[in-house]
Amino acid sequence: MDFKDEFEAIAEKTKQLTGSGIRKADEMFSVSKLKLECIRIDNTIKTKYAELGKMMYNMVKDDNADSEKISDAVMEIDRLYKKMAQVNEKIEEVKKIVTCPECGTKNKFTSNYCSSCRHKLVCTDEEPEDYSYHLDVDTE
Ligand SMILES: [Zn+2]
Repeated sequence: MDFKDEFEAIAEKTKQLTGSGIRKADEMFSVSKLKLECIRIDNTIKTKYAELGKMMYNMVKDDNADSEKISDAVMEIDRLYKKMAQVNEKIEEVKKIVTCPECGTKNKFTSNYCSSCRHKLVCTDEEPEDYSYHLDVDTE
């Protein structure tokens, strides 16, 4: 199963569903989609562990150990762990970006003003009324 393709399909759908004026919501969507991808990878890892366990059980039972098959399965699990780490990194990256509500420019989380239009950027940690006013979207 290719998670990337599936994820991109969801991302494309999200893009179609959301209007151009709610960029911050887009951003939030992408974080939750990334989290969803993480959960999916985690579930696949669990399945792979179960498959590996069953495979080894059968090998021991039949006294027919195939070390190549085992290492293939182990590498597959390692690959999935790496993928999950990449997705987690992406989540952290997306969280660190603040999109200007005026012009849509992506700024560093630490920026107080938009690098493009100088609009004051509202930190998500402060003044929730101000925050929702600028976004004009339901933040829940
Ligand atoms: Zn701006």
